[in-house]
Amino acid sequence: MIHYREGMKPFSIADISVNAGNRARAEIVVARLYDFTKMTVPIEVVHGTHAGPVLFVTAAIHGDEINGVQIIKRLLHQPIFENMKGTLIAVPIVNVFGFNAKQRYLPDRRDLNRCFPGAPDGPLASQLAHAIMTEVISKSTHGIDLHTGAIHRTNLPHIRASIDNEQMEQMAQAFGAPLIINSGLRDGSLRESAREAGVCVLLYEGGEALRFNEEVIQLGVKGVVSVMRHIGMLADEDAAQKPANSRVSTASYWARAPHSGMLNTACAVGDSVSAGQVLGTICDPFGRHCFDVSAKEAGVIVGMTMLPLLNEGDAIFHIATFNDAAKIKDVDEDTQQALTGQMDTYVT
Ligand SMILES: [Zn+2]
Repeated sequence: MIHYREGMKPFSIADISVNAGNRARAEIVVARLYDFTKMTVPIEVVHGTHAGPVLFVTAAIHGDEINGVQIIKRLLHQPIFENMKGTLIAVPIVNVFGFNAKQRYLPDRRDLNRCFPGAPDGPLASQLAHAIMTEVISKSTHGIDLHTGAIHRTNLPHIRASIDNEQMEQMAQAFGAPLIINSGLRDGSLRESAREAGVCVLLYEGGEALRFNEEVIQLGVKGVVSVMRHIGMLADEDAAQKPANSRVSTASYWARAPHSGMLNTACAVGDSVSAGQVLGTICDPFGRHCFDVSAKEAGVIVGMTMLPLLNEGDAIFHIATFNDAAKIKDVDEDTQQALTGQMDTYVT
């Protein structure tokens, strides 16, 4: 049950208070660096003119996942906020330490997305998680956490959500990504802690670490705006052109390297594959010894390595599977369809 804020009182966050119909920047103080420089997480709050949901949008919880940073930047420049209901809390860079070092982790090699809800007297990652929980997540009713693939890996743009009720399913569908993976919650993740705090959270994945992927960014901006319409923050102007239903996958597996060597593949994320299909070939430098990489089960490729140098057992293709065989088809057309309409308002 979601309880919206009553009336339009000022919204207090970090060290600021934002009046109805205003937007403001704030900095959440996290820690000091060795040189005593203050490390802060910059946020922007858009406080609407009418009561409504409080939506957080976070990115770069893994410091090298930068598509989400662009998504939030463009989102904040959309001409949509004038009569907005509720409040948007935008956090373009959660892991400010990793982002500045172009790395996934914190300086102590901890994965921030395994350290939630955190504690004020714990290690650095735990302190940062606690600050985000206290200032951002505990003040929200809904959330969207933006991710990309890890270093040298790319992901198909898709939603991950733990769909255990209709409200979550509708919110996931509202994003309009071509595919949804109904996945469990990871221990210590922002998504798990937010759900435990009663916040409805989606995770959007797409693209490769340390790269901007235009398609992923455009789909992401459009998806966040669609969710804002769905939960009642924005007028539902595009109700007539709602995207087709996203396909929901309930399981996935990795196709791994059967032998060490160099990979050649003709597959891409979004391709559908059949059971037993050869997805790539791993060869020695002379092309004398070659080993096929095959799909164990039919499905759709949702992630793959971009680095063709492999050791035996390395994960190559992440394949989503479906109960309904009719859903196993190439995603490309759905992605293009999801990208059509309204994109002229999106700045670069
Ligand atoms: Zn991530």
